[in-house]
Amino acid sequence: MIHSFVEVAEVSHFPLQNLPWGVFSLRADGRKRIGTRMGDWVVDVAGLQARGLFDGPQLRGTAVFDQLTLNPFMALGAPAWNEARATLQTLLAADTPTLRDNAELRAQVFHPLADVTMHLPAVIGDYTDFYASEYHAANVGKMFRPDDAPLLPNWKQLPVGYHGRASSIVLSGTEVVRPCGQILPPGAASPIFAASTELDFELEMGFFIGPDNSLGQPIPVNRAEEHIFGLVLVNDWSARDIQRWEYRPLGPFLAKNFATSISPWVVTLAALRPFQTPGLTQDPNPLPYLQTANTTLNIQLEVSLKSAQMDAPLVISRSNMRHLYWNMAQMVAHHTITGCNLRPGDLLATGTISGPTADSYGSLLELAWRGTRPLTLPTGETRIFLQDGDELTITGWAQGDGYRVGLGEVYGRVAGQDTGGRMYSPFGK
Ligand code: MN
Repeated sequence: MIHSFVEVAEVSHFPLQNLPWGVFSLRADGRKRIGTRMGDWVVDVAGLQARGLFDGPQLRGTAVFDQLTLNPFMALGAPAWNEARATLQTLLAADTPTLRDNAELRAQVFHPLADVTMHLPAVIGDYTDFYASEYHAANVGKMFRPDDAPLLPNWKQLPVGYHGRASSIVLSGTEVVRPCGQILPPGAASPIFAASTELDFELEMGFFIGPDNSLGQPIPVNRAEEHIFGLVLVNDWSARDIQRWEYRPLGPFLAKNFATSISPWVVTLAALRPFQTPGLTQDPNPLPYLQTANTTLNIQLEVSLKSAQMDAPLVISRSNMRHLYWNMAQMVAHHTITGCNLRPGDLLATGTISGPTADSYGSLLELAWRGTRPLTLPTGETRIFLQDGDELTITGWAQGDGYRVGLGEVYGRVAGQDTGGRMYSPFGK
């Protein structure tokens, strides 16, 4: 196992094995640049490159880290990503003196978290959200179409998805304002305009696209990983009451376009490859363009909720990325099979990752089973959906032998909106 001269706790998400990518600025100067994370430190990779320390053939002479976003680095592809990772692992290793023995240089490029502001890692041109957990899709089917088969006939033939909204993707920590919209109250003949009373979270993973494909050139499923830069945690905030009225026939629209939160550090496939694990059995066998060695990632996921009255957050769900039915390579191959071009910095998300058991569901819709099984909080409060002041945190990590490779967290607090009293109670309560 590799060690750094930087002390990193065993439960930290950010040991030398991780080396995620992010965009940060110092509170002192406000200048955005590219960095990585070691334990509780942010390391200024742009500063290291400016000192000539990235001298491999892929990155020598470039200024790809002195940038406002990761898009130019994402576009370079795996040879450059791997060279950067190897360079950082060497510079930060316990037996490399360059930084270890140069206190002045360390002071210039190592920054405590308290001095740093994180920013969106990329300009996200397009955002697509899939629906790749069978457990989630079946739960939703059972709730909303109780008389039919839980899954629609297309679900096991293709990774179902929709084109989402990129402009409202926000960084972890951004407050989420409860949206207003058209809502059809239960039993009513026509809709009202009101603040959503069924605001929900969705536990998801997202992945950023690296090198593009040309318009008209599908990405073969067995080459898809070359186009995946890295992963983040995603909370796809959803207004279920707005969704229920608007979604037929074209799917989600305003119910999901007001905010989608992502974690700030992009964790590379190289860091997560040791945690690859076989995917779930796919039956029926998908069409040839979707056939691949079906692997997924063993990433433990946790959701916690804290109301304004609570002293500490409560874990309300424990899931795992391995519960997905479709894998990331299949999502990329399916997305591009028409010739649709993906671009560096595009974000694809998996859809809600629910597991098989009731404590592993990835949304309040499922955890409280459409309002019929309210969650009870330690304060005695109950929840079927999110209330104003609620704080929602998703975290995730892969567990190694004595270390973790983690995604950090994606956090958001719900802010209320005064709608002049036109609220209604769902489910007739
Ligand atoms: Mn979603």
